[in-house]
Amino acid sequence: MYYRANDIKHNDFIGKTIWLRGWVYRIRKQKDKNFVLIRDDRGGVIQCVFPSNIGSDLTIESSLEVKGTVLKDERAKEGGYEVRSEEIKVFNIAPPDFPIGEFQSTELLLDNRHLAIRSRKMVAMSKIRATVLQAARQWFIDNDWIEVNVPTIVKSAVEGGSTLFSLKYYDDDAYLSQSAQLYLEALVFSLGPVWTLAPSFRAEKSRTVRHLAEFLHLEAESPWIEMDDLLRNQEKLLCGIVQKIILDRSEDLKYLNADLSALNRIHEPFDRLKYDKAIEILQSMEIKVQEGETTRPVVWGDDLNIDSERAITREKKRPIFIVGYPLEVKPFYVKEDPLNHGVALSTDLLLPDGFGEVSSGGIREDNIENIRTRLKEQGLDLNSYSWYLDLRKYGSVPHGGFGIGIERLIRWIINSNDIKECVLFPRTMSRVMP
Ligand code: ATP
Ligand code: MG
Repeated sequence: MYYRANDIKHNDFIGKTIWLRGWVYRIRKQKDKNFVLIRDDRGGVIQCVFPSNIGSDLTIESSLEVKGTVLKDERAKEGGYEVRSEEIKVFNIAPPDFPIGEFQSTELLLDNRHLAIRSRKMVAMSKIRATVLQAARQWFIDNDWIEVNVPTIVKSAVEGGSTLFSLKYYDDDAYLSQSAQLYLEALVFSLGPVWTLAPSFRAEKSRTVRHLAEFLHLEAESPWIEMDDLLRNQEKLLCGIVQKIILDRSEDLKYLNADLSALNRIHEPFDRLKYDKAIEILQSMEIKVQEGETTRPVVWGDDLNIDSERAITREKKRPIFIVGYPLEVKPFYVKEDPLNHGVALSTDLLLPDGFGEVSSGGIREDNIENIRTRLKEQGLDLNSYSWYLDLRKYGSVPHGGFGIGIERLIRWIINSNDIKECVLFPRTMSRVMP
């Protein structure tokens, strides 16, 4: 029977004969023995010891199968167990020029991402990512939301035109979707609360550690939802994900030096901060925003940029919702607070320790005339939104939703300083390969 490395690091296996498949991770050749660390297909590593006539042609990343006996040896690297073997089957001897060593520049690792994803860090991140998605899906199942899939080739922009990727679509033009939201809105009329996991595409013009050109977007939309429930859903979902990660992925979190105590501090309810108050705090901190060549103090009406988000969350230990943004800084579909002229029924969820935005949401405008006016004001072509406007004609109801960036969430969970480390094949301004 074939085992993985971590399965056999156990006293029950001492003296047993096992089979193991994997790749050469490190090699040390001695006069009478070859010590080979073997990496399996889940990032586990175990030391194998061969007599000098076996495995001497092995190179880093050669693939092989080993039959051997498990022994305990405190000196053995990677957990004090080793496999003594005199029988191997080699699948492939890799050329000796495997481009990835122990200390490599970030750029070289990105150029060779198809190989760099074999690193134990990437394996740990991938496992955490899989568990984030599993926990999210489970939360929606448990709460009776329906999972849906909608197109990613679209005609109607959701966010601003400046981040649209356009493409030739037969004899027409189309865009890559920036968000599934408009389609989710169409679905709440027949399916009730719905959610989706799909890539969103944004032609971000600057290189940052929090933006990708393609990211995984978890979006949810529900009819008859009010602001308070919208916030409650987000905090419950997030807490559910964090608890599952702590429970199932503590080894991987430790391997990545994630801040477990920070994750353990996360519980409901999250703080809520009014935008007005946030602006006062930023003014008292003398935070400035860039305007043309110069900077000026933050004023009411400014969107919160990353510096502002950092300033607000730096001393925070738990996530915080910002509510009551100016309508002006929000897209055409955001509803105005009927009790507060010029204020949007929208919210951003900011993560603590200076991390900033992970989710945006709000109540959607349900008055067709208001949407028409705002589409015009924002210079958008009404024809591309005719189907969306129909949703407000035929049985419109109050509804709202939110969208979470999965890589942003993972970046915070694993305490990584770059979003590119939270996705296997990052797409950025300067990279679409491999
Ligand atoms: P930001 O202002 O932080 O750039 P945004 O307000 O433009 O983000 P939204 O349209 O609100 O983004 O998208 C919802 C969520 O999707 C964001 O809160 C964020 O988690 C994620 N997100 C948005 N743009 C990107 C991107 N380019 N790369 C990765 N994640 C993103
Ligand atoms: Mg946002």
